Amino acid sequence: MKAGKVYLIGAGPGDVELLTLKAVRALKEAEIVLIDDLVNREVLQFAGRAARVIEVGKRGGCKSTPQAFIDRLMVRMAGAGRIVARVKGGDPFVFGRGGEELALLRAAGIEVEVVNGVTAGIGVPAAIGIPVTHREFSHGVTLVTGHSGGDAQPDWHALAQGGTTLAIYMAMANLESICARLTAAGMPADTPAAAIQNGTLHTQRSIVGTLADLPRRVERAGLASPAIVVVGEVVRLARVKCFGTEEAAVQEQTA
Ligand code: SAH
Repeated sequence: MKAGKVYLIGAGPGDVELLTLKAVRALKEAEIVLIDDLVNREVLQFAGRAARVIEVGKRGGCKSTPQAFIDRLMVRMAGAGRIVARVKGGDPFVFGRGGEELALLRAAGIEVEVVNGVTAGIGVPAAIGIPVTHREFSHGVTLVTGHSGGDAQPDWHALAQGGTTLAIYMAMANLESICARLTAAGMPADTPAAAIQNGTLHTQRSIVGTLADLPRRVERAGLASPAIVVVGEVVRLARVKCFGTEEAAVQEQTA
């Protein structure tokens, strides 16, 4: 029996052209494609005709596929000699449970190849012209999650003091408290901040403001998840009017 394998593939933030050549090759090779719900379905054009596609959405709140089920499926299929493409949004190793899945598959003796993708925290700000680092504005970037899973809160105080650009994933549900914590920890209230929803897709929308007014602007514009929040001086480089009218700060991009 031929040996099975799992490709842990990052599909990038949305725009199908951000797939890597390696991802395209792996998709072509795969007999089974497990696709997460944040992944643009257009990537499936690169899968073989005979490939079996299984949707394994895990969006919070909605109908979701338990992680244990996905794990079992991968182990069973690759264990039976199948080539499996596990396709995730962004990069598989950035808030994507790729690390956990890699460990599990290795423990089961299954060959794994990781295929990096463009992570949302870098690719999505870029879609509105924000470089996450810039010699004049920021000496680094911190990728951090705003989703408070119980006690596991990031150290917002340290982040406020750190002087790097913050690219905050899953920030929308706690946006007001995140901005308030950063301000309380000493970040100036007028620090530029942006939220970008559906970055790199034709449905992309973004709001640019400051730490003080971003939550209100986001709420008014009805911006929601999936979105990246960027905090730092680099946000001044955004292509939208930063400090103009509320309307001007709402960018609706067409494909
Ligand atoms: N592994 C992914 C992140 C998964 S966590 C990566 O590397 O990008 C899911 C979060 O990523 C979302 O809640 C949102 O914060 C962010 N995200 C993913 N795709 C996005 C997009 N197209 N636009 C804005 N944010 C996105």
